[in-house]
Amino acid sequence: MQTITVLGATGSIGCNTLDVVNRHPDKYRVFAITGHSQLELLAQQAKACNPRYVVIANENQYEQARSTLTQAGVKAELLCGPQALDDVASAPEVDAVMAAIVGAAGLMPTMAAVKAGKRILLANKEALVMSGVLFIDAARQSGATILPIDSEHNAIFQCLPQDFVYGDLTSSGISSLLLTGSGGPFRERELSTFDDITVEQACHHPNWDMGRKITVDSATMMNKGLEFIEACRLFGAQADDITVVLHPQSTIHSMVQYIDGSVIAQMGHPDMRTPIAYGLAYPERIEAGVKSLDFATLSDLTFSTPCPQRYPNLYLAIQACKDGQAATTALNAANEIAVEAFLNHQIGFCDIARVNEQTLNKMEQTTVCSLQQILEHDGRARATANKVIRGLVS
Ligand code: NAD
Ligand code: MG
Repeated sequence: MQTITVLGATGSIGCNTLDVVNRHPDKYRVFAITGHSQLELLAQQAKACNPRYVVIANENQYEQARSTLTQAGVKAELLCGPQALDDVASAPEVDAVMAAIVGAAGLMPTMAAVKAGKRILLANKEALVMSGVLFIDAARQSGATILPIDSEHNAIFQCLPQDFVYGDLTSSGISSLLLTGSGGPFRERELSTFDDITVEQACHHPNWDMGRKITVDSATMMNKGLEFIEACRLFGAQADDITVVLHPQSTIHSMVQYIDGSVIAQMGHPDMRTPIAYGLAYPERIEAGVKSLDFATLSDLTFSTPCPQRYPNLYLAIQACKDGQAATTALNAANEIAVEAFLNHQIGFCDIARVNEQTLNKMEQTTVCSLQQILEHDGRARATANKVIRGLVS
């Protein structure tokens, strides 16, 4: 029996996690679920999975959350605020933590789980992009296991040899990590019409059903950029070891190319329950509610290279990855601010890349070596991005 905390239970990954967990009551017990604002959903989830604690991140909603949970007949204890998030992620009773809060807000509780040596099911890529090597080093020190849930990294993890040594691709005979991406909803859209892209259009992904921030990131391909950085950190790869491949059907979730010419790919329906089930059960396999691929009806699998004019954010991220930790922290922060401004109709779709690029150009060259320095740098980048946005809209 594994005891689990689900950070960000009300999100897309959180819901999929509880779906898989609820299929296996003999294997998993839920210790805590956390949410930010969707109180009704949080109450329904608590009713279904019967956790010891429910945490509401937003302290201002404590009273409202308490009455929603009471009305729903939830028996779990209600906690609130950042410390409570850290506590349920690091409690001694907990074996595994699903890190599925979106954005930088997930960093501290995920770090708390890492420092407590938990099995980390890592969906929250922004936490890793922000803190990089510090995150990996903290896991090494505490003995935490990091299992990638992002479908591409989960695929690569599945395609690596069992004796893979972190950072040593050459000894395993690996020539390249092939990171696939669908190219999002605007892969074929006329470039001259990109200024007309609406929030609604950007929030509609052709293959995956996800939260709004990652869906917009998929449309700009910043998601693939963050994943590029994520792959470097997770596997100890260099930027030159990774190739991004456009694969619109999202059937292959990523691949590992070996020096003998072999390519090992992981395939499946685009359903996050597959990587989630893999992370939960590793090294075993469990049923995830995902139907089998039917090769008789599978359409063409096609591949191409993403175009820099169409996806400037992807190339900004690859450059930031080469520039180092301060750049990746700043880019992640700028992008969170830019996407939020786009979702709030303050800036246009093409402005997201402008805000990201201009923020990176304005940021001082510096080194960030501690969590404190990372948080400060993140804060400066957010302030700079907000200033750039004010300049764009004035
Ligand atoms: P989502 O927006 O659907 O859910 C986000 C969750 O975080 C919610 O539970 C929300 O309540 C919580 N949250 C939001 N702001 C918070 C705050 N300030 N403090 C505490 N909690 C807060 O997002 P999602 O699509 O589930 O994605 C979650 C993470 O997983 C992201 O980092 C995303 O990049 C990554 N991811 C998602 C998918 C996917 O298919 N959805 C795939 C790969 C990786
Ligand atoms: Mg992904």
